[in-house]
Amino acid sequence: MSTTVEKCTDCGSTSFVQASDFINLRPLDKKLSIGSERVYTVCLDCGEVVSIKVINPEKLI
Ligand SMILES: [Zn+2]
Repeated sequence: MSTTVEKCTDCGSTSFVQASDFINLRPLDKKLSIGSERVYTVCLDCGEVVSIKVINPEKLI
């Protein structure tokens, strides 16, 4: 899993923090599916979310 982000698209900062809201993303047609957590990469300077990554995308199938 790559976590490298070059630059904030909004302010150009290169300082980021990764965070999760621990709410699983679930497939629309399988509401009972456990789904997968997602991780946000957030700019430390302006708060822009530069990336949202699903940890286990295969669980959305
Ligand atoms: Zn920024």
